Amino acid sequence: MEMIRVENLRHVYKTSAGDRVALDGVSFSIAQGEFVAIIGTNGSGKSTPAKHFNALLLPTSGKIFVDGRDTADEKNLWHVRSNVGMVFQNPDSEIVAAIVEDDVAFGLENLGIAPEKIRERVDLALDDVNMSDYKNFAPSKLSGGQKQRIAIAGVIAMRTKIIVLDEPTAMLDPQGRREILQMVKRLHAQGLTIIYITHFMEEAAQAQRVLVMENGRILRDGTPREIFTDLREMKRLGFDVPVAAEIADRLRRRGLKLPKKILTATELAEALK
Ligand code: ADP
Ligand code: MG
Repeated sequence: MEMIRVENLRHVYKTSAGDRVALDGVSFSIAQGEFVAIIGTNGSGKSTPAKHFNALLLPTSGKIFVDGRDTADEKNLWHVRSNVGMVFQNPDSEIVAAIVEDDVAFGLENLGIAPEKIRERVDLALDDVNMSDYKNFAPSKLSGGQKQRIAIAGVIAMRTKIIVLDEPTAMLDPQGRREILQMVKRLHAQGLTIIYITHFMEEAAQAQRVLVMENGRILRDGTPREIFTDLREMKRLGFDVPVAAEIADRLRRRGLKLPKKILTATELAEALK
């Protein structure tokens, strides 16, 4: 089933310096339960579509349907917002309450859910992100990774069908990054639709599908294997390439016969045997 459908989306930001075309006719759809990564250089147009998915922005032209509903129709706003959870890059800008459990409850209160239900959902969500011990803490006392887990708990508590994460690990250390990614994979395994914007290629490689943005357009749409084994393209875009793919490429150029699309160290080792 189709969860998100984007039809010829154009988004133009009006600024004092003139119009800025952020999305220039983008079309794609995302199925229920898919895990899609969006990559691209700075300013290529990754965050702008994310903000369209929960109607924070509306199309300049074109259409977006979330769970079958047009985001531009005001009647659909509640349905759209209650089905798309957002996690942004800067954990500090997401925290709204002075106590962790209140912060996780915030979205639910806005949805008008009964207090005892809220309590139950908040407890479950904090447990899900391994943050139960911190429920009475001040968020300001937490690390960046813990704050992002709280933000994710807030989304889990809302029980949305879709989670959009816009560079959620950009400000975290490697340990924090691993934890967030593990959590995202677990949510995906539970059946949620995941849209994961990142500039870490090893994170994007874990998705089922990768969209590559360039200048407000989709440059490529494929599996991580298709995208990341195209070393020439990856380098042109200035992205890191997977180490195993790079080594395989060099060995091939020295005449070694290796299968074409090697992505991981395990595959490389297997091929070299
Ligand atoms: P990314 O997330 O890939 O860095 P964005 O979607 O944020 O890209 O931005 C796409 C383009 O739109 C960029 O050129 C950016 O400068 C411009 N842009 C983004 N947000 C705004 C804004 N609020 N006002 C004006 N221009 C913007
Ligand atoms: Mg961005």
